[in-house]
Amino acid sequence: MPTHAVLTSPRRIEIQDRPPRPLGPREARIAVAFAGVCGTDLAIYKGDYAVPLPLVPGHEFSGRIVEVGAETAPEWVGCRVVAEINNTCLARGEADPCEACRRRIPRHCQRRTVLGIVACDGAFATEVVVPAANAHLLPQGVSDREAVFVEPVAAALQTFEMGPLGRRGAEGFPLNGPPWVVVLGVGRLGLLVAAVAKGLGARVLGVSRSPDKLERAAPYAPYCEALVSAANEDHAVAEIRRRTGGLGADYVVESTASPRGLALAARLVRPRGTIALKSTPGLPACKTDLTQLVVDEIRLQGSRCGPFPEAIRFIRARKIDLASLIGSIHPLAETAAALEAAAREPKVLIQCAS
Ligand SMILES: [Zn+2]
Ligand SMILES: [Zn+2]
Repeated sequence: MPTHAVLTSPRRIEIQDRPPRPLGPREARIAVAFAGVCGTDLAIYKGDYAVPLPLVPGHEFSGRIVEVGAETAPEWVGCRVVAEINNTCLARGEADPCEACRRRIPRHCQRRTVLGIVACDGAFATEVVVPAANAHLLPQGVSDREAVFVEPVAAALQTFEMGPLGRRGAEGFPLNGPPWVVVLGVGRLGLLVAAVAKGLGARVLGVSRSPDKLERAAPYAPYCEALVSAANEDHAVAEIRRRTGGLGADYVVESTASPRGLALAARLVRPRGTIALKSTPGLPACKTDLTQLVVDEIRLQGSRCGPFPEAIRFIRARKIDLASLIGSIHPLAETAAALEAAAREPKVLIQCAS
């Protein structure tokens, strides 16, 4: 019988054996190899992100398809895959899709469930069921462990899909050399965003208020030209200006998970630059100078889930040293310990295959 790590109430994980869920005609059953723990899982675990419980969390995973529904190509069985997390009208093949799916923005599907997050049991389990259309084949050369990063790398890529990094000389970008990207907050998401930005050809500066985070990030941050402390905000602003010809960064990615991040981002970005909002603190931004955002013609750009095919290519091209991001690996039976460890390590994996 498949085993699941079920969150029954905040900070309480129960390991349960349950009969396999019956497959719909367009669904696939995946034997999970590895699942990763991300900030969203942590927020759900602690109760900071309130979702209906009980829930099997986990949305970053790799595995092998072991069974498909009657209307799905049987050739999928045996394939190594990852899967997108939004279960949408299009993914389910619904005859009468919602307005968002009709307009081809299915990640904003009005009837979506989200794997391991919203109304859909996730991958902290020996097996998981997904719409087959959400599965992406893994090429040789991307291991099961590396593939856990496809979902978060896709989300990191989406930061720059929503507002391109710019061509030479366009819209205030540097005339000589690549654009400047400041990653504000160098936790597990910030480090991936830094890696992706560097892979896309940017010069990256990491900024954090937390001396602990800066120290922890140091060995994992070959992607940054410098790690700058914002313990004193004025010093951080002066340092970023000094490095960017006095103008500020072309792109500031806010990944602090703090409502204070936006105000500092606004001080670090150049005129006509972009503030990319990436973390989800869930609270109103505080003391941000909106007048300055208007005067400096700043673009505010949110972004969430990203393109899986590009993320798979990015990982396969070895543009990121993912091994350096992996901390501890825990068996499924120790999911609670994995979640506790994830508060301290960039990426914790759960080994789900029995
Ligand atoms: Zn995540
Ligand atoms: Zn829809």
